[in-house]
Amino acid sequence: MTVNVIAMSTSAQSSAETDAPVAGAARSGGTVTDRLVEANALYAGEFRDPGMDARPVLRVAVVACMDARLDLHDALGLELGDCHTIRNAGGVVTDDVIRSLTISQRALGTRSVILIHHTNCGLESITEEFRQELEHEVGQRPVWAVEAYKDADQDVRQSMQRVRTSPFLLHTDDIRGFVFDVTTGLLREILPAS
Ligand SMILES: [Zn+2]
Repeated sequence: MTVNVIAMSTSAQSSAETDAPVAGAARSGGTVTDRLVEANALYAGEFRDPGMDARPVLRVAVVACMDARLDLHDALGLELGDCHTIRNAGGVVTDDVIRSLTISQRALGTRSVILIHHTNCGLESITEEFRQELEHEVGQRPVWAVEAYKDADQDVRQSMQRVRTSPFLLHTDDIRGFVFDVTTGLLREILPAS
């Protein structure tokens, strides 16, 4: 997640900027979604059914931040069908990530879990007060935690711990965590708390 506090504001002023069409969509005269749908038509024109079932070939699930600079397949040398990718703001291990991992392992055969945070994440620049700010603005406080953090290494460690201690998962012996450097493309491994 790359947005800063200002960009995450829910005020009407900032939405005018984010509603602006991107350059490519402007060229074709449509919205950004129109552009993506056009791209899909080209993709489908070349697409051949790979004949795979839904179980990831490498039996691995990757939990990562939604950050636009992190191309998981390129960064990890992954091919279509290799893995499950579970992404959210921060790549944090929420109940819903545990839900996905549980289904990934119990219904679709994955065995390994890789957690990836990254440098310069938007979650480092906001705090849990974001929830109070939202309450002040819209009249209700979200039930979810912001999951903001100041120390990516420590948040990877506690995320590994959340996965490792989940009662729902079948396989918790191969859980590894990393911080991806958005300027070099390199992963740095974070060792679990001893
Ligand atoms: Zn991020």
